[in-house]
Amino acid sequence: MTRRQFTLLAVALLLVAWGFLPEFTITMLNYIGLYALVVAGLVMLTGVAGMTSFGQAAFVGLGAYATAWFCTAPAAASLLGLAPASGALPWIGLVAGLLLSAAVAWCLGEVTLRLSGHYLPLGTIAWGLSLYFLFGNLEFLGGHTGIAGLPALSLGGLELRSVRELGLLTWAVLLLTLWALHNLLDSREGRAIRSLKSGRVMAESMGVDTARYRIKVFVLAALLASLSGWMYAHLQRFVNPTPFNLNIGIEYLFMAVVGGAGHLWGAVLGAALITLMKQYLQDILPTLLGSSGNFEVIVFGLLMLLVLQRFSEGLWPNLAQFFGPYLRPPTVRNKGAAGHLAARKLPERGRIVLGASNICKRFGGLLANHDVNLDVRSGEVHALIGPNGAGKSTFFNMISGVDDPTSGSVRLLDADMRGLSSRAFAAGGLGRTFQHVRILGNRSVLDNVALGAHLRGRSGWIAAMLRLDRDEEAALLGEARRQIERCGLGAQMHEMAGALALGQQRIVEIARALAGQPSVLLLDEPAAGLPYMDKQALGQLLMQLRDEGMAILVVEHDMEFVMNIADRVTVLEFGEVIAHGSPAEVQVNPKVVEAYLGGVDAGLQA
Ligand code: ADP
Ligand code: MG
Repeated sequence: MTRRQFTLLAVALLLVAWGFLPEFTITMLNYIGLYALVVAGLVMLTGVAGMTSFGQAAFVGLGAYATAWFCTAPAAASLLGLAPASGALPWIGLVAGLLLSAAVAWCLGEVTLRLSGHYLPLGTIAWGLSLYFLFGNLEFLGGHTGIAGLPALSLGGLELRSVRELGLLTWAVLLLTLWALHNLLDSREGRAIRSLKSGRVMAESMGVDTARYRIKVFVLAALLASLSGWMYAHLQRFVNPTPFNLNIGIEYLFMAVVGGAGHLWGAVLGAALITLMKQYLQDILPTLLGSSGNFEVIVFGLLMLLVLQRFSEGLWPNLAQFFGPYLRPPTVRNKGAAGHLAARKLPERGRIVLGASNICKRFGGLLANHDVNLDVRSGEVHALIGPNGAGKSTFFNMISGVDDPTSGSVRLLDADMRGLSSRAFAAGGLGRTFQHVRILGNRSVLDNVALGAHLRGRSGWIAAMLRLDRDEEAALLGEARRQIERCGLGAQMHEMAGALALGQQRIVEIARALAGQPSVLLLDEPAAGLPYMDKQALGQLLMQLRDEGMAILVVEHDMEFVMNIADRVTVLEFGEVIAHGSPAEVQVNPKVVEAYLGGVDAGLQA
């Protein structure tokens, strides 16, 4: 049985059992479904995209209060010109709640997400607290007593009055959401989202607007919370501020962490475990201890510590591992057999693709680059060499938009790139690798390389969720596959990139840059850590790319490697260009010999 078949079977069993299960079980399942919906958003936000929020309960509250107000306030109905008990009101409440939550999340995200570190969690705590007190203090929302008398939802003339009926809606919404989120993660947009947690500098260099993606994920999580709040309100038929306070916000986060914050099904597992545990501890503990009190909170906390101590990834991965032997993993389809992406035409041979003039970069008192002039032409390999600390990596950052020069200018083809981000450089046809490898270690080589083709796809989130992006996705993966094979990593295609040797990870970075079909390729020490044979293969590859018309700028310490492949060499020392010319000229340049003297690189004179 495959995992998918197992999932479908479980869903079918649940559906069949739904009519027979006792009322209490159904009620519990209903709550689990509602919580899991919120937690699924948190999994996306925290586990996948690396942003922590304590304030999801407040978004649930927005969804609940929005529908409560629209359904009960006479002003709302008359404003809309509807009868006071119209069946349309809950749906208007739903839309209002979603819009409100999205707007608030967007504003909150704009303010906090651009800042790094702990501002977002702190911001969400402040937001969670203030909204709770706002709910309690607003007269028209019923103050601390809340709003009662919400109507039951009606769906196409069918009234969802009982828990059993409403629970069906809850679980249908939950399962559809999980399906959509799963699809989203399994797409071009999903690759970009996954890079938010640990690879933002790298993703920007692949053309991903990470700030925008972060806000979008934040809004997505808020929408799911709000949706859950809407159903919650119509299940309870009244709302008050208590279920939306900061404690509950923290509980949602616990559910995500215990279930496994990196896994969508972890949301369901976490919500189920914590809901059931709370329920049973509340019942059992007082009888066990012989006196009443909130003991469950203490035991709960201890159990939580234990789980976090033993299973830092949450429980889902363990469960999945346990069932692993019985369930076949999804077969890796030969994705990418079909479809080709539009090809970029390389600039004509000999044309200056990237030109840097008078680049200066100051770090406090240190002048890391001083009046550096350098250009890279189509169809040539230009090597930038120099002792450690000469300013080569700094220069790379200047000419790829990762950092701005203190003065000087950079042109990419016809465009003046002053002040532009690395995203703009990527869009303009620049591909690069990093000296300190930046890959997503727990994603496959294929996934990592496909991220490099980000700008060659168009499909958005909705298309990805509904799987309307499959042709484009196949083409993107096909391109990634071709580049991986071309770079000689075909056998490692589906391995986790983090498990490869460092030298191979560098090759993954090259393949990733190539997937973006760059006109100019910047390689920062690509041969470091490669065995001799692989170095030769890399040299072959670079020469082939050059012959195809690519412009290549390479920083490398291995002189033999450099001198074999470079057409021109520029030598940097203490941030200044001390020599420039063909490999033969540079090797006999007295200044260069001087700079390298001390036996650091005897190879230079050899
Ligand atoms: P290379 O790549 O040639 O070995 P780098 O460009 O990494 O050299 O570094 C050049 C000099 O600039 C070094 O002295 C380094 O310490 C300094 N440097 C690089 N980045 C920074 C930074 N972000 N802040 C301060 N100093 C830096
Ligand atoms: Mg360096």
